[in-house]
Amino acid sequence: MILIRYLIVGVANTLVGLGTIYFAMYFLHFNVVQSNALGYSIGILLSFSLNKTWTFSSRDHITSSFIRYLLVLGIAYTANLATVLFICSHFYFSPYIAQAIGIIPYTAIGFLGSRYFAFRTQGQSGTSDAVENKLPNKVVFDKKSVTPRIVDVSIVVPCYNEEAVLAETTSRLADLLQQLIIERSITPSSRVYYVDDGSSDKTWELIEYLAETHEFVHGIQLSRNRGHQNALLAGLLSVEGEVIISVDADLQDDLSAIKKMIEYYIAGYDIVYGVRDARKTDTFFKSFTAKAYYRLLSMMGVEIIYNHADYRLMSRQTIEALKEFSEVNLFLRGIIPQLGFSYAIVYYDRAERYAGESKYPLKKMLSFAWQGITSFSSMPLHFITGLGLLVSLISFLITAWAVAIRLFTQDAIPGWASTVLPIYFLGGIQLLCLGVIGEYLAKIYSETKRRPRYSIKKII
Ligand code: UDP
Ligand code: MG
Repeated sequence: MILIRYLIVGVANTLVGLGTIYFAMYFLHFNVVQSNALGYSIGILLSFSLNKTWTFSSRDHITSSFIRYLLVLGIAYTANLATVLFICSHFYFSPYIAQAIGIIPYTAIGFLGSRYFAFRTQGQSGTSDAVENKLPNKVVFDKKSVTPRIVDVSIVVPCYNEEAVLAETTSRLADLLQQLIIERSITPSSRVYYVDDGSSDKTWELIEYLAETHEFVHGIQLSRNRGHQNALLAGLLSVEGEVIISVDADLQDDLSAIKKMIEYYIAGYDIVYGVRDARKTDTFFKSFTAKAYYRLLSMMGVEIIYNHADYRLMSRQTIEALKEFSEVNLFLRGIIPQLGFSYAIVYYDRAERYAGESKYPLKKMLSFAWQGITSFSSMPLHFITGLGLLVSLISFLITAWAVAIRLFTQDAIPGWASTVLPIYFLGGIQLLCLGVIGEYLAKIYSETKRRPRYSIKKII
């Protein structure tokens, strides 16, 4: 689609450029150099503005993308000239045919250069940069202007083999709820739902015991382990309550942030994201890879809240909106900003895990990261399309060159490298492309099956 737009802009540019040149020569009586300069300038300005706004809907800064665009045109034009000169001097074709062939590298370089270099940030303007650039770091929020209100809260806690921490988590949550009830910010019937994600230890027995001994504790048992995201979703979509807060079982997320989250909710925000202030407790490796990953996602146009895990408050309305999303490859951090709605951010320090060990080993983390990219961005696909185009073009030119050498000169040496290397090179590229396409195919496959994402065994 954008290639077609690019070609239309190219044709329009040529027509307007040529028209200007003739007009300047015949009506304004400019000389050849003057009219050409005028024609080219108008053509370039026109194609730049059309390409920036219409073809690529780029959000890049005008001046810098214009300079990059000029650079791309310069390179494309040089390639065009080189091809034409080469053809004319070796084949004695007519200049028209040579020019017609020269258009191919010109267009290819121009298009790829504009797509990946001149207009780097693309997309519907205003959507994908919403999160990274417009973080409401300081949400204006005046406590006094908001009438106090009592909200009915459910806290959802996914648990996988968390027997070591649940007792402590429950006692801290009990303290918090009690305090909030006394302060009259949440209803006395507010509750906690532990979602047992098919644990293999005594987690579910512990939850049953806690539910018996504490009125506010409820449990949801999944039929088997479905992973953190599915367990969380099962909780979010199954519980009642005006406001739903999700938090991990391991007490890494500072529970006192919940009070602030509720204040923001009362002030009118539908979603409140908990964002960790520092990554002091993470290893260097984890914090470095996490940072790089968030950057990569936002570069690929995926909306995501920087440094936000799944610690957040959601209003009933946003939960209802979330129900409409039926995808199987869940990446809630990407889906929730897509819901829209007003949001605020609460910062907190992330602590060490209270007990037990991380249920996200490197392998799970990598697959989660990959999920985030392939579920929300088709950039890898676009990239390989471009790469495929470029490689094919280059091999086409090399082939033409080899044939020409063979036909018109005596220098042809039966070459091993020129035969074998391209085979390996193209073979590698093709495999890479197939691999990435396969990833997406796998995704389409699992989405079309529309399997239920979890099955609840019991709710108490
Ligand atoms: N979790 C889960 N299912 C899983 C893995 C994890 O429900 O398959 C829960 C886990 O019990 C915890 C939360 O997800 O409450 C986050 O896991 P963890 O703290 O191990 O991850 P980390 O903080 O190390 O990234
Ligand atoms: Mg944790």
